[in-house]
Amino acid sequence: MSKSTFSLSGLSSVAIHAAGHENADHAHLTPIFATSTFTFDTAAQGMERFAGDDKTKIYSRWGNPTFAAAEQTIAALEAFGLEDENGQPLQLKALLHSSGQAAMTTMFMSNLKTGDTVLSHFSLYGGTHELFLKVLAETGINTIIADLRNMNEVETLLQKNPSIKLIHIETPANPTIQCVDLEAITSLAKKYRKIVTVDNTFATPYLQQPFKYGVDFVFHSTTKFLNGHGTAIGGVLLGKDLEFMNTKAWKWHVLLGGNSNPFDAFLLTNGLKTLELRMQRHCSNAEQVANYLAQHKAVAQVNYTGLTSHPDHLTAKKQMKHPGAVMSFELKGGLDAGKQFIDRLQMCVRAISLGTVDTLLSHPASMSHKGVSKEERIKFGITDGLIRLSVGIENIEDILNDFEQALR
Ligand SMILES: *Cc1c(COP(=O)(O)O)cnc(C)c1O
Repeated sequence: MSKSTFSLSGLSSVAIHAAGHENADHAHLTPIFATSTFTFDTAAQGMERFAGDDKTKIYSRWGNPTFAAAEQTIAALEAFGLEDENGQPLQLKALLHSSGQAAMTTMFMSNLKTGDTVLSHFSLYGGTHELFLKVLAETGINTIIADLRNMNEVETLLQKNPSIKLIHIETPANPTIQCVDLEAITSLAKKYRKIVTVDNTFATPYLQQPFKYGVDFVFHSTTKFLNGHGTAIGGVLLGKDLEFMNTKAWKWHVLLGGNSNPFDAFLLTNGLKTLELRMQRHCSNAEQVANYLAQHKAVAQVNYTGLTSHPDHLTAKKQMKHPGAVMSFELKGGLDAGKQFIDRLQMCVRAISLGTVDTLLSHPASMSHKGVSKEERIKFGITDGLIRLSVGIENIEDILNDFEQALR
């Protein structure tokens, strides 16, 4: 951790300095510790390391200094400026995983057991939806999918289903950009003593800090904006109950074996340093792209919470610094027009994933949400013609020029 006597004033300073620069070899950056195991000077030292909470110098499935640099940085960003119940600076523990899906598995498996129920929203990342309905279901953990924007419905479900143990929110949600009110859900969850987990991948701590509202766990696919350059798959689980993180969550993490690797962790730590700068550009570009699409005569609908036409415009405004850089839209010509548009793009990139420096476009119905039944997809607002767009940090004129020529 940075050892300044004054508190850092913003996310960039935190992202750049949270991991510290100290190491035995005076390397400026935390090196890629490509090693499976760590040596003990004496048996007693080995025993001490096993007994302590810092497991970064034992065996790399358990932890590694290169992972720790990324973990400390993300924890510092999510906790930035927040206080715990006693008015002290919020302390978070982060566990870096090989993928978002691995971090999510640790999050759910360490909190749930057979017979428990999860309550979640209907607009969700495809992999999360499938994990609930195809994997957790087989272990006897059920999921109720509802509209978590309707607090009366949520309260009724909580009253009727005592087996609900955890409420999982993705806000903004993929790919409809629906937003769930973090404050309202958390206060209901507290009343009924439920755990709240939040997928903060689309927002990043730059736009939204869910721990501010008292949620229990935050999850990120670091593959997206946190890495920012599309160089590595990764995921992180953050919790404020340090005891739980160091025991129960850590047990599932280590025994399921979803550890990161030093090279990916190094790429992530370096990507994080420019998070704030990148997000500022991502967001200002996205705003201009959304306004351009919203007024274009070939466009039927744009899902972007910066537009007052989005049903969750006010929720986003309440809890996010800016609407963000991911949106979806549909052309008046539906699927065929959408395909044609995507094929004509000259600079923007045809690929799934999001949050990279380049502008990426994909087709949720046939790609990220292919594993979700058509009936459910349509119910969730993922129509056949919907195009998902992650706006990059290129020069805005070029993104707009590319769209303009492709829509002509
Ligand atoms: C990508 C993503 C995930 C899954 O993460 P991976 O790194 O691909 O395993 C989960 N949630 C959201 C919102 C995502 O965008």
